Amino acid sequence: MSVRRIREEGDAVLYQKSEPVISFDDSLKSLVRDLKDTLLESGGVGIAAPQIGVLKRVVVINLGEETGWIELVNPRIVNKEGSQEDIEGCLSCPGQFGITRRPMKVLVTAQDVDGFEHKYKGKELLARAFCHEIDHLDGILFKTHVIRMLDAGELGTESEKCN
Ligand SMILES: [Zn+2]
Repeated sequence: MSVRRIREEGDAVLYQKSEPVISFDDSLKSLVRDLKDTLLESGGVGIAAPQIGVLKRVVVINLGEETGWIELVNPRIVNKEGSQEDIEGCLSCPGQFGITRRPMKVLVTAQDVDGFEHKYKGKELLARAFCHEIDHLDGILFKTHVIRMLDAGELGTESEKCN
């Protein structure tokens, strides 16, 4: 297990499309462990493999007690409902926050580290996290969805959650 360096905006790896996982082997499990360690260290709520420089379709999310650890391999959004606007940030864009528009609810299918398929329903913050992380796998940063960036004076004390 190890905490990996989080790649930041401007790093080419963040703008590329990640490859599907086809081998559910030890290297996948080790990647998931590194993502968890790095996410814990960062204090964020979600992280995608390209953010630590690995172009594989793997995401880890943890909203605390609400979700525990969610590990997504080859995730796909199969349904979206409604819309929401809220503050969003990204571990790869430190100190930058904006209001984004995202679906209110999403249905995601993904495999686990052993290759078994699962469905996940997310609403509100979890829906945002699913959308944000899956975008990373397609080389898309949250700024694509920003309606308005916030300036420092508008940021609250809860130090907005990052993905
Ligand atoms: Zn992000």
